[in-house]
Amino acid sequence: MLDSYRHKGMRKKLVDSIRKKGIQDERVLAALDAVPRHYFLDSSFLEFAYDDKPFPIGSGQTISQPYTVAFQSELLAVRPAHKILEIGTGSGYQACVLAEMGAKVFSIERQRKLYLKTKEFLNKLGYNIRLFYGDGAKGVPAFAPFDSILITAAAPEIPESLLTQLKPGGLLVAPIGRGDVQTMIRMRKLENGQFETEEFGDFRFVPMLQNKAND
Ligand code: SAH
Repeated sequence: MLDSYRHKGMRKKLVDSIRKKGIQDERVLAALDAVPRHYFLDSSFLEFAYDDKPFPIGSGQTISQPYTVAFQSELLAVRPAHKILEIGTGSGYQACVLAEMGAKVFSIERQRKLYLKTKEFLNKLGYNIRLFYGDGAKGVPAFAPFDSILITAAAPEIPESLLTQLKPGGLLVAPIGRGDVQTMIRMRKLENGQFETEEFGDFRFVPMLQNKAND
């Protein structure tokens, strides 16, 4: 894996364009600048790595659009040492961006093939991210509670067990909806256990798989 000056230059441009689209958290932008996105695409698709677009990664899944990764990361208000649970590991790119911001990342993937591939790949990259194979709707009770939870697949509704695994004061960010387009929401768990919800516009994600995985 080679991160050349050319790659770094393309990444700078991408980060500038994401800043222009409204992302303000400099730590998010620095993390995007630090993670070589071209490592996450098959080498034959190199020229697409620094377009601000989603891209197929196999098993019918996609690596999210860089702007969307930045947007969700900004909503999470990440602080170093925060424990973050991600639902939908996919390529592992979003997880690396959060790890680059100093978070302790836990991530669940529903498709076994993808889980195995990404696990091996993240080890190679040297990121210390804990990956799990299973249904993200159940969370990872053994490591709860989390400072924040991020869902990176379209969820028809927020699974109750994830809300339980959030710390008081914690944030959950997710695209919610059953159709092609979802609404990005952020829920804050208040000290009294109630939730406050904000909405942040329309996004498109692949659907969250319910019980069956295609593996
Ligand atoms: N965060 C990823 C992109 C996610 S695409 C990245 O940075 O590349 C959505 C991912 O969620 C897919 O890999 C899909 O297999 C996974 N997924 C779908 N339903 C799931 C579920 N119930 N639990 C865990 N992962 C799920």
